[in-house]
Amino acid sequence: MSDNSLMSLNDARARLLATVTPLARTEVIDLLAADGRVLARDLISTMQMPPCDCAAMDGYALRVAGVPADGAVLTVSQRIAAGQTAVPPLTPGSAARIFTGAPLPAGADAVVMQEDAQSLDDGARVRIAAPPRVGQHVRSAGEDIARGATIVHQGERLLPASLALAASIGLARVEVAAPPRVALFCTGDELVMPGSVAPQDLPPGRIYDSNRYFLRALLPRLGCQVDDLGVVPDRLDATVAALDRAAQTHDLILTSGGVSVGEEDHVKPAVRQLGQLDLWRIAVKPGKPFAFGQLRRADGGHCYFTGLPGNPVSGFITFLLLVRPLLLRLQGATRLDEAAVPLRADFDWPKPGNRREFLRVRRNTEGGLDLHPSQGSAALAALHWADGLVDLPAGQPVARGDKVSYLPLAEWLA
Ligand code: AMP
Ligand code: MG
Repeated sequence: MSDNSLMSLNDARARLLATVTPLARTEVIDLLAADGRVLARDLISTMQMPPCDCAAMDGYALRVAGVPADGAVLTVSQRIAAGQTAVPPLTPGSAARIFTGAPLPAGADAVVMQEDAQSLDDGARVRIAAPPRVGQHVRSAGEDIARGATIVHQGERLLPASLALAASIGLARVEVAAPPRVALFCTGDELVMPGSVAPQDLPPGRIYDSNRYFLRALLPRLGCQVDDLGVVPDRLDATVAALDRAAQTHDLILTSGGVSVGEEDHVKPAVRQLGQLDLWRIAVKPGKPFAFGQLRRADGGHCYFTGLPGNPVSGFITFLLLVRPLLLRLQGATRLDEAAVPLRADFDWPKPGNRREFLRVRRNTEGGLDLHPSQGSAALAALHWADGLVDLPAGQPVARGDKVSYLPLAEWLA
């Protein structure tokens, strides 16, 4: 690759992921604390679900052969509540009053819901509107989960439904990937932390550090433990010392800013001194510059390095497209991206650029996509407004009505 040529996003991603090997560290944690974590070992059920045949409705358990015709009247021989353990078999020719989730008595093969039955003689007998079919409103033993079944696979992220599923088979603790340890630095002498200077006192040329805020929010969502190391020191030797120290105890050093051509802070020379650095110019908009490298560690290992572009929208989107998959790969996740959905563009984009572009869009109530008028790489208001990105190939114009590839941000941020 010559110095001036651009690399495709797919190539950049492939190179990055080819370099990154999952961390071998795992930990066993309480299931209640496992939301969003990547599973390190298959979850295998030692029981079947439901554990036994049970009622799916409130009503009457009976044997279908004992209901010869519409309106048959049966004796109610027992009452079975959910949670009841000792259930006597069904007296032949009778019905059992039963409630949702309660075990079916031996001999019963269907449940008639109470809306299709009429209680007689203070509940001593019941009239069944019509003969049910065998198995009606019965959840059979093992129909949801067989004993020995793998219910969640290694490499899957645990989401609220997976946690409930694991709990339903009696698991209290799960083995998950240990959190990647991420050290975060921002670069830029212009940056000021909100709260340190009031907006009316902000000197010309200074801006508030906004990238730190989305990074501090995104990293924990991806199961990472973050150490915010502030801004890069203003001397090279101090920067080398800070990066070297961070590399010893972190899996990734993530920086924001300072990766553009001609940008002179100390991060690039410091990473080069401590290991190896690639500066990529990626054919993507927003977000062209990206740095990827590794720092040597005293124990013979290494710490990855990623440098995001400083423009907020560029940094945000580059994080989702390159750093997010890296962090998921470190945790051994099998799925590194969320699916794109084809949706109708309710906008025109007549003059496409020569780089693949990610446009800030939002779904409208007609099922199409609206485009934010401001597509600048610093336009945070547009990013806030957007609920997704259109992934537009280089050179491809969009006319109203075209199908485009939509990435739902909510899924990428989960
Ligand atoms: P850079 O990538 O350092 O050349 O920065 C590109 C643009 O992003 C410049 O206008 C910077 O002022 C701005 N920028 C860099 N870092 C941040 C940050 N942490 N928060 C907000 N804007 C930033
Ligand atoms: Mg800068």
